[in-house]
This record gives sequence, C-alpha cells and structure tokens, in this order.
Amino acid sequence: MSRILIIGAGGVGNVVVRKCAQVPEVFSDICLASRTVSKCEEIATDIDAGIRTAQVDADDTADVVRLINEFKPDLVLNVALPYQDLAIMDACLETGVDYLDTANYEPPDEARFSYEYQWPYDGKFKNAGIMGLLGSGFDPGVTNVFCAYAQKHHFDEIHYVDIVDANAGDHGHPFATNFNPEINIREVTANGRYWEEGEWKETDPLSIHETFDFPEIGPKEIYLMYHEEMESLAKNLKGLKRIRFWMTFSENYLTHLRVLENVGMTRIDPVEYEGQKVIPLQFLKALLPDPGSLGPSTKGKTCIGCVIDGVKDGKQKKIYIYNICDHEECYREVKSQAISYTTGVPAMIGAMMMLTGTWKQPGIYNMEQLDPDPFMDKLNVHGLPWTVTEL
Ligand code: NDP
Repeated sequence: MSRILIIGAGGVGNVVVRKCAQVPEVFSDICLASRTVSKCEEIATDIDAGIRTAQVDADDTADVVRLINEFKPDLVLNVALPYQDLAIMDACLETGVDYLDTANYEPPDEARFSYEYQWPYDGKFKNAGIMGLLGSGFDPGVTNVFCAYAQKHHFDEIHYVDIVDANAGDHGHPFATNFNPEINIREVTANGRYWEEGEWKETDPLSIHETFDFPEIGPKEIYLMYHEEMESLAKNLKGLKRIRFWMTFSENYLTHLRVLENVGMTRIDPVEYEGQKVIPLQFLKALLPDPGSLGPSTKGKTCIGCVIDGVKDGKQKKIYIYNICDHEECYREVKSQAISYTTGVPAMIGAMMMLTGTWKQPGIYNMEQLDPDPFMDKLNVHGLPWTVTEL
C-alpha cells in the first residue's frame, strides 16, 4: 500500500497512470499532476479508479513542495520533461520523498544529455535517507537492466555493448515523432558519440549507419547516435571496451528532418519575429502531431535490445537480449502507441521496486546498479516480455 505522485500527463504519463492503476496492491493512492490539469482529468475520468488530479508547475520547486505536502506521497514519479528534473529533485529533498525519472536533466538552452547535473545529488539524497532512481524508461532503463542481467548471469566480463532500437511502426502521418517532438529532435540532431577504450569519440549526426536484421521485423538501417545510458554503463560495466547506441530511421523521416534542419526549424536559440522571441523547435512542436494522439493510427512493432559480447569461463560469447512490442496491442490495453508504452511500463516497475522495498536504498542510482532479477521478472508480468539468444 503506497501513495504515488505522478508528474506529467503526456504520452508517457498516460501509460504510467494506467499501469499503476492495474496494481492497486502496490499503488493504492495515485495522484496525477501536470501543468495542464484538464489533461490529467481526462485520463483519470477514463480510467475511473479514483485517481486524484492536481495542477502543478514543476519548474517551480516551491509549487512541487506545496503539492507534496498536500498529497503526502511515498514517491514522486517524474514523467514531465527533462527540464523539470532538478526542480522536482530539489522538492523531493526538501520533503524527504523518493524520486524516479525516465530522462536525464537538460538545460533548455543546451542539448547536453549528461548525468553531470543529477549525480552530484547522491550525497544529499544519502544524507536525507531518500532514493533517486534515474532513467527508468526503456532506453535508458530496460537497456541498462539487460546489461546488468547479462553481467550477472552470462559473462565474467563484458567487452562490447551495442544497444539497438527499432521502431518499425507506421503512424500514417508524413512526419511525426513518437515522444515529445522537442526532446526527440534535440536528441536526433545532436552529434553522434560512442565510448571506446576509455574515450568518447564524436561523429557527425547520423553519419554512421549499417543494416541490422531485427527479429519479427527484418532488416533495417540503423544509425549511430549518442544516448544517455552509455554514460552510466561505461562507468558501471567492469572491463568494458566499447559501447554504442543505434536507432532506426526511415528515409522519409530523415528527408523531412534534413529539410527542417536546413531551413532552421530545429534551432533551439530564440529568433526575433514581429517583435516576439520565438524558439523555432518549440514552434515546430506546436505544428507537429501530438505523440499522444498517434495511438489509434500506429501499426507495426518496436524491437529494442542489447547485443553484448564478452568472456565467460575463458571463452568468447555473444548474446542478444531484446523485447518486441506491438503498437496496436499497446493501444488496445492503454490507449497509447508502443513508444510511450515501453517507457511507461518500466517507470511503473521501477516505482514498484522502490515502494515494495526491493530496490530501496538511499542515494542516486542508475538502473544497472541494482539487482536486475526482480525487475526482469516484472517485465514479463507487466507487458514487456524479453528474449535472450546466443549469437
Ligand atoms: P509529453 O510532451 O507528451 O508530456 C510531457 C508532460 O509534462 C505534459 O503533460 C506537459 O504538460 C508536462 N509538463 C511540461 N512542463 C511542465 C511543467 N513545468 N510543470 C508540470 N508539467 C509539465 O512527453 P512524453 O510523455 O512523450 O515524455 C515524457 C518524458 O519521458 C520525457 O522526459 C521524455 O524524455 C521521457 N522519455 C523517456 C524514454 C525512455 O525510454 N527512457 C522514451 C520516451 C520518452 P502540458 O500538457 O501542459 O504540455
């Protein structure tokens, strides 16, 4: 029995609330809060399970503290935007409440993708006796847990990790993103980066690509990008020689993105327009389909997993751990496409691990630092079954 405050009522927030409501023995009291309270009310009314709703400005620590003092949660689950992470963590510190998120803090004026802002909270969280779990989505999140599981059960030493993320879904729009367009485009247009022999190597955006044959999907072109889980995995996987992250993009998506970039629509600096300051990427977000609305039209599957190479009992070994998720099945269950689903389910499971005491310890943690087994078991139970194959 526990009380959870969920902040953010977008695509991922919708899934988290519905999945928490399916486990009332753990999440007995749920409050969904966001900037636009009508979005919370719409979801809560549709679920009809006594979920409370509230308005909050999560950029304002004092406002989050006010809401925490009113609702008195055991845990705050942050699925607003990465810009709010620090304000919500500060509110958790002030009130002594556990914290969980799915994306690392980003300063709004710089796409940095680093844990450098959140890791320094470790000492403060330890002193306050509270826990902060960072990146409990799919990637980051489940991909970190897959690596920890491989480390525990399959390898004496892991040498190479390739995280491979395919969305073979079709939403029927000429161009749309599967999660918040601003965050998604900041990530995709950034320089690529991978870690090798103790150093970060930088590449031009989406300049390195190859073909990968996905189970149930078939061959797709995958593109090397930077992704935040590599920062913690490079630190926490002993003996690692290289880690890279790859994602699929269709030719259509890349052509649209190239045009938008070339005309300046993906810029994140303010532009003067008719006496007003406009940030082109934020304006573009207002024009693009809301990812939360893509559920009914999206068909096809996602496949996200890790190809891991290392040594066991003196012999070289390579495995592939992955999950396949079907957009239409997700929509039938929680009125969402698979990208929000694959993020929202691990967020719920991470919260369950903390609230049941399975993962409870003071300080700031990335997912691979905790015992992967109970989390892996819950993935099978709550809609994200996984497969391990030896290559
Ligand atoms: P959405 O844009 O759909 O939803 C964000 C929600 O946060 C909206 O309800 C928005 O309110 C609310 N919000 C924004 N600013 C504030 C604020 N200042 N105070 C209160 N509420 C606020 O995003 P998604 O649901 O697609 O993504 C949510 C998070 O999940 C993001 O951080 C994203 O990076 C992360 N993510 C993680 C993944 C993973 O695998 N780890 C994968 C996909 C996403 P409003 O409705 O008013 O705009």
